[in-house]
Amino acid sequence: MAIKYSVPAIIEKLFRTSEASKEELITLLGVLIKEDEAFLLEKAFEKRNEIYGNSVYVRGLIEFSNYCTATCNYCGLRSDNTIERYRLSEDQIITQCKIGYDFGYRTFVLQSGEDPWYTKDRLVAIVAGIKKCCTDAAVTLSIGERTEEEYQAFFDAGADRFLLRQEAYNKKLYDNMHPGMDHENRISCLRTLKKIGYQTGAGFMVGIKNQTLENIAEDLIFMKELQPDMIGIGPFMPSQNTPYEKESPGDAELTLRVLAITRLLVPHALMPMTTALVSLCPEIRERALKAGSNVIMPNLTPDNGGYKYKLYDNKSVTEGLDQEKMAALSKKIKEVGFDLQMVRGDVIK
Ligand code: SAM
Ligand code: SF4
Repeated sequence: MAIKYSVPAIIEKLFRTSEASKEELITLLGVLIKEDEAFLLEKAFEKRNEIYGNSVYVRGLIEFSNYCTATCNYCGLRSDNTIERYRLSEDQIITQCKIGYDFGYRTFVLQSGEDPWYTKDRLVAIVAGIKKCCTDAAVTLSIGERTEEEYQAFFDAGADRFLLRQEAYNKKLYDNMHPGMDHENRISCLRTLKKIGYQTGAGFMVGIKNQTLENIAEDLIFMKELQPDMIGIGPFMPSQNTPYEKESPGDAELTLRVLAITRLLVPHALMPMTTALVSLCPEIRERALKAGSNVIMPNLTPDNGGYKYKLYDNKSVTEGLDQEKMAALSKKIKEVGFDLQMVRGDVIK
């Protein structure tokens, strides 16, 4: 394909207007020349500073159940996988948030597999219970696909945010990754969440089997259209006993470039430094922060339940209730010019 523009010209255009065609994005993603990459990262860094300064928001992650009825080919929690399963009770989840709140956390992310044991009423009670004892904290749900009525009930109970990655905007790729699942419903759930009024999070993995640069460009264009408040982008990581266990992990450098382009396309987005990226390449932290990551999610799951929440092999866990480890993390982040903040950290628009 003929390249119509120079890479810096496309980046400048993205920086000014956040407009780019699929061809231009593919060109950017294919950039291998170090010089150009540095320019892209610099522009993303400028944009991030313009909106969020040097803030890095902290969210307490509670992985409350690893039961899952879904069959995502890449994930260690998929229903066919034989792993030790666990579930936290309503009280355990609320208590854990209270402990996190007393530690200083002002946002909790409740994440699980698709687990119908948590009925609408149970989840409403959990969200309301957290809001009662952690009054000024935000609650984020990341529990997969539910009906509009359920999403509305969680919102009415006080849930503020919802993370649901589209995983792939391209239907063929999505169907490949998710046997028996419904692409249309995934995208429609995202639009419903936005309509209800949640701060909504989308995202995808980089380097999943059969994904092309064109597919990534399609996801980027979808996110530019959807303008989510949060965007999770991390490399695919292989997981034992899944259909994709023998696949190679996604490329950390490409993930970094995708993060930087996303920062330019959706400038206000809150973008976590994903555990997958840090697990793949711990030394990338500083560059990921500069490329636009502005959220970190230490783990608050009790009794290291987090270690059983094994989406993929060699998953790293930041223990979020350990004073020393958190102080060390804050220091490390300060050393590279950023400021770790335990605040609600709402989206700035
Ligand atoms: N079950 C809910 C869902 O799928 O939306 C929330 C939890 S799910 C574990 C959260 C995210 O983990 C998914 O959206 C997926 O992108 C990511 N994930 C799962 N398996 C992964 C893997 N092998 N490598 C990298 N990320 C993975
Ligand atoms: Fe279940 Fe989410 Fe993993 Fe899919 S990605 S198997 S829905 S936990």
